[in-house]
Order: sequence, then structure tokens, then C-alpha cells
Amino acid sequence: MTRPLREPGLTQLGVEHGFGVRDFAEPAGLRRPRQVHGAVVVRGEDCQGDDRPEADAVVTSVPGETVGVITADCVPVLVGTRDGRAVAAIHAGWRGLAAGVIEAGIDALRHIASSGPDPAPPLVAALGPHIGSCCYEVDAPVTDALAERFAGPLAGALAPSQRDARWLLDLAHLVTADLERCGLASSDIFVLSDSCTQCDAVRFHSYRRDGPRSGRLVHFITACTEAAERTQRTVRG
Ligand SMILES: [Zn+2]
Repeated sequence: MTRPLREPGLTQLGVEHGFGVRDFAEPAGLRRPRQVHGAVVVRGEDCQGDDRPEADAVVTSVPGETVGVITADCVPVLVGTRDGRAVAAIHAGWRGLAAGVIEAGIDALRHIASSGPDPAPPLVAALGPHIGSCCYEVDAPVTDALAERFAGPLAGALAPSQRDARWLLDLAHLVTADLERCGLASSDIFVLSDSCTQCDAVRFHSYRRDGPRSGRLVHFITACTEAAERTQRTVRG
């Protein structure tokens, strides 16, 4: 069976999650919205059946419920409270980033987490496989769209390209900047290394490489059950 990739920072906290690779099948019962490159957030329980809502982030605090997003080059972002009680999956490409999908997802996660024992728990985030700055060439319409929200970080996310009027964009740099702006500590933001979707055709699907017929990678995160929390507490002592 094909196993998903785990991010050590989330694994260490006992948060059940995975970043998809080729041939990793969608987990049973996964709640995910119909993605449209926007900034709308929904709850996992709204994503059942065939009539799923359009959104690009999904949150849940229902114990044992698994939420997720699918990607092929965009950045999958999995976020959770440290106790794993409330979790979010966010789909972040340049359109979603420009629209503020990270902030919207974090706001919604904090809202559902605020009913827990700690009303403002610290959050931990992991960025999964996405098209790297080695491959992601963009033009002025993309950089213009990002310029307003990312006036500061954008300069640090762009590198010169071989072609005129093109740049190489580091999406993870922008996602990280937005997570930090939302109050996450940089030490609580993890980036899965060595995982450019376009470079690595063996492990990943890539829209840029494979075109409209490209497959999609499935990513998921599960809200901890109380039993899992108890185990965590025991392990931590
Ligand atoms: Zn690459």
C-alpha cells in the first residue's frame, strides 16, 4: 500500500496527518470541499455527500473527523492546535494566497478551537509537496495579483528567471510569511523538504508538467479523539 508523507513536526505532536503521493488513495470518510482557488472556509461536516461546497480551506474539531485538500503544484497546508483537537487543511496557490486563504483558514481554525480548554491555543503548521522555486516561473499578472497582500515578502519570494519578464516564485515563502503574520511562531511552521512536484515525477502529480490530465495528490489531517489526547499526555508525562 502506498503510504503518504508525514511531517515530523506534526507527527511528534501525535497529530494524524499525511501528504499524498502518487497512488495514495483518498482516505475513507475524508471531508473535502470543491476547490476553486478562492479564500472561503467550510467545516468538515458541511463536506458530506455529493453536494460539497466550493471552498479552499476546511476545518474541524469533531473528534476523529478527517479533513483534506487535493493539489497538483499548489501548496497543501495542514494546521492544528498542539493538542490536535482542532485542525485545518488549506489549498494555497497564487490565486488563493492573493485572496487571503491562509488568514481565512487560520481565523476559522482559531474560532473552532476557542471552545476548547485553552481559548487561544498555539498552532502548528506543515507545508506539503508543491512546485518549488526551482520550477515555478510566473509573469507580471501573477506578481501584480500578489503585490497588495504580500508587499513586503514578495521581493524575498522572487528570483530572476532565464526569460524576460518572468520570475521564479517561492510559494512556500509567501505561505510562511502569511502564517507568521497570523501569529504562528516560525519554529512552529514546518516545510516538507525535497518535494518539488514538477521535479519529482516519480512521487508527485504536477499540473505544470502533466497538463489538464494531471492527477491530484490527496492530503489529510484528523482531529484527535480524546483517547488520542490522553495517550499524548501520558507519552509527554
Ligand atoms: Zn522543481
